[in-house]
Amino acid sequence: MGETTRRIRASGGRAQNIPVDGATLIALCDGYLDLDLSRFPDVVRGIGDDLAIADGQDLNDMTLSVNAFLLRTDARLCLVDAGDGSRRGAHLGRLTQALKQTGYAAEDITDLFMTHLHGDHAAGLVQHGQPLFRNATLHVAEEEVAFWRNPTALDSIQATQLPFAEAALTVYQERLSMFRPGDALLPHVTVRSLPGHTPGQVGFLVGQTDQILISADVLHLPALQVAHPEWGFLFDADSKQALKTRLDLLTVGSVTMLRLAGAHIPFPGVIRLVHREGAIDYETAA
Ligand SMILES: [Zn+2]
Repeated sequence: MGETTRRIRASGGRAQNIPVDGATLIALCDGYLDLDLSRFPDVVRGIGDDLAIADGQDLNDMTLSVNAFLLRTDARLCLVDAGDGSRRGAHLGRLTQALKQTGYAAEDITDLFMTHLHGDHAAGLVQHGQPLFRNATLHVAEEEVAFWRNPTALDSIQATQLPFAEAALTVYQERLSMFRPGDALLPHVTVRSLPGHTPGQVGFLVGQTDQILISADVLHLPALQVAHPEWGFLFDADSKQALKTRLDLLTVGSVTMLRLAGAHIPFPGVIRLVHREGAIDYETAA
């Protein structure tokens, strides 16, 4: 097993502070997902194997972190995404344990900012048919809500995620707040449109200088997809749009050396985009 994989599998329930000005940002690890390569149908073996090995991973034994992020201001305690819940065993659903490390419990959360409503981000919102975060307002992009409220338009892959989106929207319906790209949800926290993985997927740009974009599922495997953005993920609802979003973000972000936080970037889930030898590259940055 590669060193990065070993580290990812040991990170469930952990919390780590991420320095950024204008807000307090903490990465929380819900656990990990083991995946096989069928989820990355475009990966070219050989090239992909070498990139994975260089990053301490192995394409025959792949693991993705499942991260969420805590944003704290004087008045609000906000959770960005809520992990996969405990439906799939003890390797996931460790978010409340991670939260406890920061000194908080689920009922302390005032706001839930969702990047999108796939199960590994939204299933953790609901426990036994009830809201786990019982004092929180659920904030979701208008376009994301519209996507899941039109289930006949979903393809068979997106339809597998419908129960989680529906459960979240139902259980939190009294406290649902919809936002649009460009909205400022908190001082120094702005919504950024990142369509493709789902049509309403968004990121949250945090901070004043040396900002961090919490970038949802634009990148599932930075070790492969920064060098080969054309290697998409099976659950990208619109693979062409997902590629365009990934390329745009890598191109623009590498010029400004933008930091990206991601739900599936190895915990603590932060990289910095850079240019190296004329190509877009990244380094870990937390
Ligand atoms: Zn995801």
